[in-house]
Amino acid sequence: MKHDIPRNKHLLVIDDEQDICELVTDIAELTGFTSEQCIELEDLNTLTLEPMPDVIALDLSMPKIDGIEVINFLGQYPVKPQLVLMSGFERAVLDGAHKLADRLQIPVLGQLSKPFSVSNLKTLLEQPLPAPEATRPVQSWANTAQFTAREVEEALEAGQFIAYFQPQIDLKTGELHGTEALVRWHHPSGVIMPDQFLPLIESEKLILPLTRSVIEQSLQQQAQWQAGGLKNIQISINLSAAYFDELNLPELMQELLSRYPADPKNITLEITERIGFNNSNQNVLDTLTRLRLKGFYLSIDDFGTGYSSLSQLNQLPFNEIKIDKSFVQHMMDSPISKAIVESSISLAAQLGVRCVAEGIESQEIAHALTLMGCDIGQGYLYNKALPPEAFMVWAQNYTRPQSCLNRH
Ligand code: C2E
Ligand code: CA
Ligand code: CA
Repeated sequence: MKHDIPRNKHLLVIDDEQDICELVTDIAELTGFTSEQCIELEDLNTLTLEPMPDVIALDLSMPKIDGIEVINFLGQYPVKPQLVLMSGFERAVLDGAHKLADRLQIPVLGQLSKPFSVSNLKTLLEQPLPAPEATRPVQSWANTAQFTAREVEEALEAGQFIAYFQPQIDLKTGELHGTEALVRWHHPSGVIMPDQFLPLIESEKLILPLTRSVIEQSLQQQAQWQAGGLKNIQISINLSAAYFDELNLPELMQELLSRYPADPKNITLEITERIGFNNSNQNVLDTLTRLRLKGFYLSIDDFGTGYSSLSQLNQLPFNEIKIDKSFVQHMMDSPISKAIVESSISLAAQLGVRCVAEGIESQEIAHALTLMGCDIGQGYLYNKALPPEAFMVWAQNYTRPQSCLNRH
């Protein structure tokens, strides 16, 4: 997909208050947009969305059709706009809409609590718009991906599932700490993201060969990086909850380890908190304990989205808490997200485990997390997940940011 035809950025404002519509279009035009207003929205199909505006400024509460309906509607389009969410309701309403947009992979440029100042709006619109590919790597598949179990099986046999690697940075020193392996399907028609095929893989009991392949690719890469001068790059590998019913993971890990020169302390296994850790799930607890005994590190992924109680956490042999990106991304504008991030960091410190924040997209967030005492950061600020060779080149050229050098 090429986006190199020069044209003005276009903004659509949808709000039942005429004053706001005019204010937004005035400021938009001052900041280089062409613009359009929609004051009385009665039917979603009357919106001009082809071509999709670059930015849609959306009021959440309108008399006939509310902002949530509009966001859901936008979710169906392969090309998404950047959203500016506006509301006179309390912050939690804006946050709820923001979460829905995230779920539908609609990028949010910012939130404005009404009444908002002209300068806040102007600052939002003056931001450079992220490149469309960065926010929607495989949009064209979003609603069309319908694969059969047979196709996935053949793709596995053909080695089309490739582990990509996203850097993790030590926030205190700025050094490269490690990487998370994130799988992509190199389908003949394009690269497909995990949310498009993992549910099928899990339901078809193909998670075993997939995970095995990701682990093997990770160990192979680790050995190559080591040979290329990148020492002790930690690798985090995601384990699906479905995996725990399937096999003897500790034995598999042991077997794989014997074939590569890997050190288990450089391998972290991430298990999502959504699995619902509790004492009645003795198999999970046994498996985790045995993995830990073999020297692997264990991380609670998506921390904050599940229901772990403090006493459960204390009984599990974890070494790392990984704060879910939904909180990290909103921590600067949502006090609730900020509180969750802060308390997760302090909980990790009290439990004596490492704390990782994922989804860091700005220097401002990285800085705030560092001040809060978070250990490791991961996110588009540093880089997205890269194919193995590209990761190696990136890592070899990576230099610590200046701001960290002073403190080192
Ligand atoms: P996750 O484990 O929570 O992984 C983090 C996701 O956040 C990744 O999405 C990553 O690309 C994305 N991400 C990282 N930094 C940023 C950022 O700054 N901004 C934004 N917006 N996103 C960021 P991805 O690669 O699409 O993976 C989605 C999920 O699929 C993962 O979520 C994980 O649960 C699952 N997954 C990926 N690879 C594997 C795998 O090999 N095995 C298993 N079982 N699950 C996997
Ligand atoms: Ca993960
Ligand atoms: Ca997550």
